[in-house]
Parts: sequence; C-alpha cells; structure tokens
Amino acid sequence: MSSTLLSRRDLTFLLHDWLDVTRLTERPRYAEHSRETFDAVLDLAERVATEHFAPHNRSADLHEPTLDGQRVRLIPEVKAALDVFAGTGLLASTLDESVGGMQLPHTVAAACFTWFQAANVATSAYPMLTLGNANLLLAYGSAEQVDTWVRPMVEGRYFGTMCLSEPHAGSSLADITTRAEPQDDGTYRLHGTKMWISGGDHELAENIVHLVLARIPGGPPGVKGISLFVVPKVLVDPDGTPGARNDVVLVGLNHKMGYRGTTNTLLSFGDGGHQPGGRPGAVGYLVGEPHQGLAQMFHMMNEARIGVGAGATALGYTGYLKSLAYARDRPQGRPLGAKDPATPQVPIVSHPDVRRMLLAQKSYVEGALALVLYCGRLLDEQRTAPEPADRHRAGLLLDVLTPIVKSWPSQWCLAANDLAIQVLGGAGYTRDHDVEQHWRDNRLNPIHEGTHGIQALDLLGRKVTMRGGAGLAALAATIGATVDRARRAGGEAGDLAGRLAAATDRVVAVTRRLWDAGDPEVALANASLYLEAVGHVVIAWMWLEQLLAADAAAAVRPDDELYAGKRQAARFFFRYELPRTGPQFDLLDSLDRTALEMNDSWF
Ligand SMILES: Cc1cc2nc3c(=O)[nH]c(=O)nc-3n(C[C@H](O)[C@H](O)[C@H](O)COP(=O)(O)OP(=O)(O)OC[C@H]3O[C@@H](n4cnc5c(N)ncnc54)[C@H](O)[C@@H]3O)c2cc1C
Repeated sequence: MSSTLLSRRDLTFLLHDWLDVTRLTERPRYAEHSRETFDAVLDLAERVATEHFAPHNRSADLHEPTLDGQRVRLIPEVKAALDVFAGTGLLASTLDESVGGMQLPHTVAAACFTWFQAANVATSAYPMLTLGNANLLLAYGSAEQVDTWVRPMVEGRYFGTMCLSEPHAGSSLADITTRAEPQDDGTYRLHGTKMWISGGDHELAENIVHLVLARIPGGPPGVKGISLFVVPKVLVDPDGTPGARNDVVLVGLNHKMGYRGTTNTLLSFGDGGHQPGGRPGAVGYLVGEPHQGLAQMFHMMNEARIGVGAGATALGYTGYLKSLAYARDRPQGRPLGAKDPATPQVPIVSHPDVRRMLLAQKSYVEGALALVLYCGRLLDEQRTAPEPADRHRAGLLLDVLTPIVKSWPSQWCLAANDLAIQVLGGAGYTRDHDVEQHWRDNRLNPIHEGTHGIQALDLLGRKVTMRGGAGLAALAATIGATVDRARRAGGEAGDLAGRLAAATDRVVAVTRRLWDAGDPEVALANASLYLEAVGHVVIAWMWLEQLLAADAAAAVRPDDELYAGKRQAARFFFRYELPRTGPQFDLLDSLDRTALEMNDSWF
C-alpha cells in the first residue's frame, strides 16, 4: 500500500526526472554518492519516519508536555523516536565528513527530512533546531566550540535551540534587552528572559545548547549591538564531562494550538535559580565577533526558512493524501442523472467538486514541494557549482526566493489542510481523523521564523531591491529561460509559457512602479499582497517546470499516470490560481492606500 505521508513516486520524479540530482555526484563534494546511496537514504528516512515518528503523532498532540514542578514530561515515544533518528546519522546528512557528516546534497537531505515532518512535525522539530544550531556554530564558532558543542549534537547527545524572541520583542529584534556582561576569564554572564523558545527544556538529551541573542553593555543600539552566545543548560568541564548546572531556568511552558510535542518555553537567564561558580548569571560563550549576532543568525536563515516551508509542505502533503484516500473510500450520493435510489452510491472522489478540492490540494502541495527542493538545489549550487558565476547566481536567487519558500507553503499548504478537512466533511471536523491536527500544526508556520507580514517586508523592502535589483533580475531571467524552453516545446507548454511570461512581466513592472513612486510607506503598505502575488507566479513557474519534465519523462514511459496527473495539476494551477494575481497586481499598481489610511479610531 502506498504511503499517506508523502508520495515516493513524486519525490523520485522531482529529484531524478526534474532536478537530475545524480549529476551532482560529478562534483568532488558528492563524489562518494550515487543514485543508489540517494535512494538508500530516502528508503531509510521513509522507514524510520513511518515506523517511529508517525505512530505517536496523535498521542503527542493529545498528551502535551507538562511541567511537574521541576521537570518537563513528554510521552516516552518522543525520546524513543529521536534515539532511533540519532542512530541513522541523518541529522548530519549535509555536514562535512570531518565532523561526522554524510556530505549529502541539500536537495536529497531536504527530501529525506520531509518524511519526518510529514510523519510528525513536532518530534522532528528537535533535530531541525539542533541542525540549525550546529550549522550556525560550524559557520561562525571557534574550533573549540565546534568540538565542545557541535560534535555531541551531531551524535544526537545534545540538542540545540535558537533563543531570539523576548516577551516584548518578537518581530522587532532590535528591541531585545537580554544583556551579556563580559567576565575576566573571557566568558560572559547573561541576564534576561527569552519567550517562545522551542525545545527550550526537556530531558530528551544529555544537554541543551542554547544559541542566545543578547547585548554587550556599551554596544551600539538596535540590531547593530546584538551579539550571539552559546549558553548550555549544563556547563561542560574541559574534559567534556558534565559540570555545574547553568543559570538557565524554565519559567513555564506555553500551551499551543498545535505542534504540541515540541516543548515551547519561557526561559529565564541569570536570575539566580542556579549559581554556577557561586553566583547568579548564565555563563555564555561569545560566537564570532561582538555585535555580529543578528547578521550571523540571518546568514543561516535561508536553510531555516526552507525548513519551515518544507514542514508546511509536508503537513499539506500528508493531509492531501489522507483526504484522497478518504474520498476514494467514502460512498455518498450518486452521479448527476442517476435517479434510481436503488443504484449504489459512488465514492465522493467521483464528484467534480471533491475533485476540485483534491486538485487544488495537489497543485498546492506538489507545487510547494517542487519549490522546497528547488531551493535545496540552489543551496547545492551555491556551495558546489564549478563556476563562480553560477554560485553567485544561486545565491541571488536564494535571497529572493527565501521569503517565498517560507511563506507560500505556510499559507497555501495550510489552505490545503483546510480543504482536506472539507473533503472529509463532518468526519474532518472530529479528532477521529488526522486532518484537523495537521491544520492546527500547520497554523504555526505563517507565525514563527518571521511572520507572513515580516517576510513580505523582507521580500519587497529588501530582497527585490538589494544589489540594484539583481535578485529580481536573476529570478525574471531564470523564469524567462523556462518560458523559452516551453515555447520551443510548443503545444500546451507553449500556451502556459505565454501566461507565465505575462505574469512575470507584471512582477517586474509592479515592483518598479511601487518603488518609483518614491513613497516607501505606500510601497510597503500592501507588501503581503505583493508576497502572495509573486509567490503564485513562482509556483506557476514550478508547475511549468514540472509539466516540461513530465512531458520528457512520458516520452520514455508513456503509460505512467503520474505524468498525466502532473499535467492536470499544472493546468489547474494556471487556470484556477494564476489568474488570482491579475487583480492583485492591479491593486498594487494603483498604489492603493486603503489600509494605510484606515484610522485606528474607525475600527
Ligand atoms: C510555537 C512557537 C514557536 C516559536 N519558536 C521560537 C524559537 O524557537 N525561538 C525564538 O526565538 N522564537 C520562537 N518563536 C517566536 C516567533 O518567532 C515569534 O512569535 C514571531 O517572530 C512573532 O513575534 P511576536 O509573537 O512577538 O508577534 P509580534 O511581533 O507582536 O507580531 C504580531 C503581529 O504584528 C505584525 N507585525 C509586527 N511588526 C510589524 C511590522 N513592523 N510591520 C508589519 N507588521 C508587523 C506581525 O506580522 C504579526 O502579525 C516561536 C513562536 C511560536 C508561536
């Protein structure tokens, strides 16, 4: 029976028929790999996700973490699954062999990790955070910090967190107040409160490595005065053995709508709950240079934000497959024109409106998965392309696509979960089926790692204008290359190419219009609309790419219905979805001020 987590056939299509990942093995970094090793690691991910992550997805939701005064309690299956995960070595799949990694391409690693996110997004958050933490230390930490903190994380003995947000400073990190006092021995003592910290406390690992943003007194105000520190839950003696308990205290757990298996915490640093060295203050170690903390965090954002987009996609995908299975099974009603009540009922998948809901889900989740894997491929290009110009181009594209790969799946794969509930009817509204949990879990994704609105400001306010608009120009040129190929292919591809070219021209023209008007307040007032319209154009591009790949593959395997399904979903996206952007671009083009001019007292 095929999985209801993800479609392995779709992954094979995207990775091999479309992105041709095996060609990456021609590059020195991936020379040890082959199609066989890629397939083996995907098999492993599917198996471990199915056998160890999926079974406790519901239970972890029903039994959220609790605090028994001192300790955080989670259902035991979470730790059991994470122990199995640690044994696979997948946490370090993309890392260098020198730190125990597999040097797997990001594209393949992203596909692997999507299995875990589809099976159990909350349990998979622990390794995701740990990997983000390890990556940051590998990029900016000292050799000693890598030895002390990264190696145990790679081995699955320590877990990591990211401590940015504070109760009064979420979107506006410029306003954080946690302070880090320098000490004579080169360490720092941190004092402050961090809010919403995922994985902030638990007993799933020997230690928790917090990466904390804080201010060194006397530094510049705003974002330029933020530094980054390693603050472990348990201090580690020079010989690697656990030392004193650090002054990091769990104040409380947040009770969430979804994603419940991931502990979410309010942490206090340095309030004297523990007294390392006989005095209050959380011991911290500066990462890199002072005042570079936010820049360091942002350098790592591409991967983290692709990870959020991948999680949203995975939840949308599994909801789609589960609603499809239900629709094939649930008899209800008869075809139009079948008047005889004695005739058997048909499965609801036969009704065009149900097919519309399934096709919409398919077009969202498979379009989003394509974008996630494409961004993974760009990370590989940025890191290993033989030509510097190609590496540079991949970086430009990633910059501009990052807010989209984070936000588009977070919005539209959530919409897919909404449709999955609708396909199940009343059953979808109960806790007897998974789809309601997928929706609740997915509802986090437009909020964390920068809200939808903040991603929109990033795209329109920064990414499309930076370096003289080079990122947008690179995106338009890359879409243009797909359009050219599709025009040469002719037929349906040629027709869709014309529509995509027109939509891309509008992206460029509207961007110019918004900024040429000379009023940033007006330009940015509708940034979310811009993000959504550009996102739809990008996903239409992903669908034209998939249509071309399906046509090429169908020439070899004409009977494979996967390709017919891809073509139909591409048609759906171009007919039902892309046209939504027309009125959005018109509104943006008009420099509309409705939201801007709405008075607070008029609400
Ligand atoms: C379950 C969960 C897990 C999390 N995990 C972590 C974690 O591990 N580590 C961590 O550091 N943080 C974490 N966060 C925090 C998360 O990143 C923040 O919630 C998010 O950045 C938004 O901050 P906020 O909640 O303070 O909302 P606010 O910043 O108050 O935003 C509220 C609303 O106002 C809008 N808004 C704010 N400023 C602007 C602006 N300038 N222009 C336009 N609109 C604006 C936002 O888009 C949003 O819609 C987590 C949050 C949740 C809910």
